[in-house]
Order: sequence, then C-alpha cells, then structure tokens
Amino acid sequence: MPALPATVDTTQPSAARAYDYFLGGSHNFAADREFANQVLAIAPSIPAVTRLNRSFLRRAVHYCLDQGIRQFLDLGSGIPTVGNTHQVADAAGIAARVVYVDNEPVAYHHAQHVLGGSETATIIQADMRDLPAVLDHPDTRRLLDFTQPVGLLAVGVLLYLEDPQPAELLGAYRQRLAPGSLVAVSTLTDEHASPELRAEMELLRGAYESAGEPVYPRDHAEILRWFDGLDLIDPGLVTLPEWHPQDQVELDDPAKPLGYGAVARVP
Ligand code: SAM
Repeated sequence: MPALPATVDTTQPSAARAYDYFLGGSHNFAADREFANQVLAIAPSIPAVTRLNRSFLRRAVHYCLDQGIRQFLDLGSGIPTVGNTHQVADAAGIAARVVYVDNEPVAYHHAQHVLGGSETATIIQADMRDLPAVLDHPDTRRLLDFTQPVGLLAVGVLLYLEDPQPAELLGAYRQRLAPGSLVAVSTLTDEHASPELRAEMELLRGAYESAGEPVYPRDHAEILRWFDGLDLIDPGLVTLPEWHPQDQVELDDPAKPLGYGAVARVP
C-alpha cells in the first residue's frame, strides 16, 4: 500500500473503502471493516449487489468498446479492484484511454499506485459535480478528445446524490459529449424489493446516514428522468443482471431487485 497523505483520516469509515471490503479488496482500514461488518449484519445482500454492479460495469464497458468507443470518463470509479474499465479494455485487447475520477483520497492514491506510469489511464481526485475540475484537468485534456464519442460511466455513484443532482449532473456532462457518446448508469433501488429486502434497505440507509454518507434508492420512473434527451439502448433501464445478461446465476440472485442499470446514446 503506498504512503497515504497525513490528511486521510483512517479512523473514520468511508463508503468507498467499505465497498472495497464488500468486493473482497484489501484497501480498507479497521474503521471501514467495522462499519462494513455493521452493514453486513443488517443488510447481508449488499456484497451481492456490489458484485452485480461490478459485473454490469464490465458488460457496459464491453458494449461501449463494441460500439467503437475508445475513451472513457469513469465518474466515482472507486478503489481499483479487478475489472476496472482500463482492465476490461486491456483484456479485450483494445487500446482505450481512461480518466478515472474519485473524490475519496484513498481511492485516488491506490488508483495512482495501480495505474503506475500508464500513459493511457489516469485518475484525478475531484468531486464529479465540479465539471471544470474534471473536464479542464490537464490529464482529462491530454487523454480525452470531446469532439469524438466518449463513454461516460456513472456506475454505482449517483446513489450518493440527492435529487435533483443526478439529473443535473448527467445533463451538464451530456452538453460536453459528442453525438454517439454512450452514458452508462447504475444505481440502487428498492422498488420491487421483497419486504425483507426493503427492510434491509431501510437499515442500510440509516447506517450510511449515521456514517455521514447518505444513500438514496430510487424507483424506475425517477431514474428514467436522468436520461432525458438521451436514447436508451435496449433493453432500457432494467435490473443489473438483466442488462445484456450473461449469467444465469446472476439472474437468479435474490439481490437482483436492488439495482437498476442502463446505457444510453447521445443523439
Ligand atoms: N464505479 C465503481 C463501481 O461501480 O464499481 C465504484 C463505485 S463505489 C460504490 C462509489 C465511488 O464513488 C466511491 O469510490 C466514492 O468515493 C465515489 N464518489 C462518491 N461521491 C463522489 C463525488 N461526488 N465525486 C467523485 N466521486 C464520488
């Protein structure tokens, strides 16, 4: 693990590092594990949702690559674990340029370490809501050409934003994207959850709120509004494993109703 800046308070849990723990990663501290274990006790479906989400990310990136996208802006990219956007492209033997964005210092430092001296993938530490900080960053300018289609990823991150921020954010980025760009989004929902799953979600919300990182599950109609002005790719906004499904085990996962995902094209 690379040395962290002294400003990182590892005694406070972070949602980004708890997510890493749920995925089986090692970039987390005692406070994160304690928090994550509290979440697990009240919402045991969460690791399954995080895996379904990662799997959606991989399929969405593959779709973008198949459509000829060769550059990605990955918002709220998280702590690097296996299956990051540049690794998906590498594994497919495709040269792609990737700018990761995360505001969490540990995610930033680990990503820097993992990416090493890569000339085609980088991470910038910024709040994704600060468009100038993201889009005018020298690395963004160096790696991404906004006159050409870009894959904009907001996967597993808009759940941290209160309405109307997700729609405004996507709308603002969309203004900068060339026609043919693709926007991939996944987020948390409890719309069709069983009473048991819904109860888990309520407890989960309370835990994240107490930790100072509230999360906002949404229903289908609310999320669809985020895609105003974009053309949804078939099959539209569906539960995570139903988006270009590949795995029957995922389709049968009891946590399936807790996440929606979609990819849309900039007309
Ligand atoms: N996108 C990855 C995935 O789907 O596997 C990681 C998702 S993780 C649940 C969410 C990440 O978003 C965390 O690393 C968190 O630090 C980051 N994040 C949350 N709010 C953010 C913001 N306003 N700007 C940038 N990153 C943010």
